Amino acid sequence: MFAVYCPRHRGRVLLFAQDIESLHNTDRGIELVYRCFCGHRGVLYTGKRRAGEEMLRVEWMPGRSAG
Ligand SMILES: [Zn+2]
Repeated sequence: MFAVYCPRHRGRVLLFAQDIESLHNTDRGIELVYRCFCGHRGVLYTGKRRAGEEMLRVEWMPGRSAG
């Protein structure tokens, strides 16, 4: 699971692997597109370029379909 700032919630929300729409390695680090349970979509960059900030652990479970 991972925490993101959601502008609709005006605070941090905790999301899970099923809330991840896509996950890509880019020059900026890991680009994670998520959808909050309120419907807000956002992009989160994490990984190598974010040293010094809070490390995010993403538990990605390929092959496990939601529901
Ligand atoms: Zn939200």
